[in-house]
Amino acid sequence: MENLLIKHGLVVTEDDVILGDILVKQGKIHQIGQSLDFESVKIIDASGKYVIPGGVDPHVHFHLPTPSGFSCDDFLSGSRAAISGGTTTFIDFVTPHRTQNYDEAVQQRLSESVPSVADYLLHFSPVRWDSNSEKEIFDLSKKYGIRSFKVYLAYKNNIGIEDGVLLNIMDCVAKLDGILAVHCENDEIIRFLQQKFVREGKISPLYHALSRPAEAEIEAISKIVNFAKITGCRVYIVHVSTRQGVELVRQAKKDGLPIFAETCPHYLLFTESVYHQLFEQAVQFVFSPVLKSVTDQEALWEGLRDGTLDVVATDHCPFNLRGQKDIYPDFTKIPNGTGGVEFRLQLLYTFGVLTNRLSINQWAKLCCQNPAEIFCVNGKGKIKLGYDADLVIWNPNFEGMISAKEQFQCCDHTIYEGISVKGQAEMVVQRGEIVYANRKFDDKRGKGRFLGIMGTDVK
Ligand SMILES: [Zn+2]
Repeated sequence: MENLLIKHGLVVTEDDVILGDILVKQGKIHQIGQSLDFESVKIIDASGKYVIPGGVDPHVHFHLPTPSGFSCDDFLSGSRAAISGGTTTFIDFVTPHRTQNYDEAVQQRLSESVPSVADYLLHFSPVRWDSNSEKEIFDLSKKYGIRSFKVYLAYKNNIGIEDGVLLNIMDCVAKLDGILAVHCENDEIIRFLQQKFVREGKISPLYHALSRPAEAEIEAISKIVNFAKITGCRVYIVHVSTRQGVELVRQAKKDGLPIFAETCPHYLLFTESVYHQLFEQAVQFVFSPVLKSVTDQEALWEGLRDGTLDVVATDHCPFNLRGQKDIYPDFTKIPNGTGGVEFRLQLLYTFGVLTNRLSINQWAKLCCQNPAEIFCVNGKGKIKLGYDADLVIWNPNFEGMISAKEQFQCCDHTIYEGISVKGQAEMVVQRGEIVYANRKFDDKRGKGRFLGIMGTDVK
């Protein structure tokens, strides 16, 4: 394996930005300093550019089966899109059917994920609770190193779970010293409103938004905070979208509860007004939770700034506009989800760092370090001696416009179409190998690894 010397970069470390060099040996960060020298290395000139840790996106859904077909990206196209945007590690999901054997579900997902060019982990979604469930979950942890789990409080007709099941799962995850990611939306509120609107003939995408009010999220976050108090389970609340949600997390942290939270770029860039557009535009924003008000959006930015929200992840789950999103007039049947794994760092850099809402270090923490720490992705997420050399040469001078025509994601549209952005991942190094540079992949080099077995120390 070739050694690398990245020279004259603005190196973004945990708390600082230092002008210096990084020596990469055997795929690891070997030395950080000024005027480093080493024989027989490949030299990369990073003058005028930032060097940041490879991004970690802990919330993506590649190749997700739904009644409208699979989400657009499989593990190859999705991971390539991730790499092109500076994300070198992602975490996807194993979501078994209600009665499916858990081990078989993991095996199936592992075989689907083989083509990935980025490194990855898998969260597991328990969907039932019976006398055998604790053993099933402990076995996954032993065999695959799975320590992060995900449950849905919405979607009870499918994968969502009842409170009794939730409490047992939280108790079990706490025993494993794992972490439980939770989709917080109250299913009963949503189903009540959906049925009411459909009865009244109100079926346009606007009613998708109106059937999932802020209260559905607030009720569920409030519940999960209480349940965390009772069970001691570490909890990660996915895609927080409301001001009160942020406030509940802030208070829970003040109370010393082990609660972490994420939001997503779409909640930071758009608000509910988009649902008042014509079908073809509005339907692109059918995902859950839905976009909220300007006040909610400001609270999300404030939550990122003051550390209440720990992570910006994408919930990447795009469906084509033609043939998937546009075939159902009834909003309850439109597949939920949107894409963004490719644009996460760029959007947060443009709309967070360059607007002075976030420092460059906060940007790196939210997109790289925090998700790696929360989900125990060992040796990733930081520029630190001995860590994997997952590095991104970030060109801050790049200016461009997001367009579906140019994207690596396999989707016929993007909700970010026409948005002007600054900054770009110019070169991406994965475990010491240059896997992507100037919008080209080195297919011989990029080979993703499942990180699940590594770094396991199950109690
Ligand atoms: Zn999701």
